[in-house]
Amino acid sequence: MKKIGFIGTGVMGQSIVKHLLNAGYEVTVYNRTKSKADDLISLGARWKDTPIKVASETDLIFTMVGYPSDVEEVYYGNDGIFQTDFSNKLAVDLTTSTPSLAEKIYDTALEAGGQALDAPVSGGDLGARNGTLTIMIGGESRVFESCRPVLELFSKSLEHHGPAGSGQHTKMANQIMVAGTMTGMTEMLVYAEKAGLDLDKVVKTLSGGAAANWSLENYAPRIIKEDYSPGFFVKHFIKDLNIALQEAEKMGLELPATARAKALYDQLAEKGHEDGGTQALIRLWWG
Ligand code: NAP
Repeated sequence: MKKIGFIGTGVMGQSIVKHLLNAGYEVTVYNRTKSKADDLISLGARWKDTPIKVASETDLIFTMVGYPSDVEEVYYGNDGIFQTDFSNKLAVDLTTSTPSLAEKIYDTALEAGGQALDAPVSGGDLGARNGTLTIMIGGESRVFESCRPVLELFSKSLEHHGPAGSGQHTKMANQIMVAGTMTGMTEMLVYAEKAGLDLDKVVKTLSGGAAANWSLENYAPRIIKEDYSPGFFVKHFIKDLNIALQEAEKMGLELPATARAKALYDQLAEKGHEDGGTQALIRLWWG
């Protein structure tokens, strides 16, 4: 059985590691803030205090950190994954990051005699907890197939989309869609409340018709309960929308609705909600 390394045990990483441990894998973890790995250590995960130490002792290394700059650090930093002999190892980056960084990691891994996949996910904190994430994969198809059984431990839907970077491009397509569902759901609730409607009833009715979508199903109930905790951080959504808009610009595309959604989330962050969940967008209206 492969020894698995996992770097980044935040909201998403913690839940995913639990699925790997439950399946009987030996998992070695590292996170910048050690306390966020304490639960996992108590469940049997081994702790190492740098990415290089994790990578040197494992064959399959997952990373799920915050930003592209964090990904750069865990792969290319002084204590980074690529400082070890990487031959015959496989790195799978689950972070939502840039397609160009995914390509660079793939090239470095290959030169070192190893392999890499970009494999960002969708499905939120609940998807990670329930093991029902959607995974969007870029890299070599045969490499994806070699680790499919491990990925299936925490996903219900996974698809190979093409060479390195294709997983991140697919995730950007996903986030462009989510920008629309989050702003639509938010304005719908603001309108329905102002019209004096019962919000629980409205959400139930709309969920059965053409307006049904994941944001409505998962985030509207949290808003009605005034639960603005993350979930999915506002700061990470802004990161994703920035990447999507930059990639679109490189392609000569304008995405005005996505740009507007980003501007709204920027306003929300300026009001101090960057560590809130993305459902907090409604606080631009409801204070
Ligand atoms: P998170 O809770 O902030 O987790 C990221 C973890 O990575 C944090 O614990 C952080 O450490 C750690 N980290 C960052 N830089 C590091 C470094 N250089 N070395 C070691 N550890 C480092 O965020 P998350 O919600 O799990 O999201 C993780 C990624 O998945 C993001 O790219 C996000 O956009 C994406 N994503 C999230 C969701 C969601 O619903 N939450 C859904 C799909 C995709 P600290 O504890 O020190 O901050």
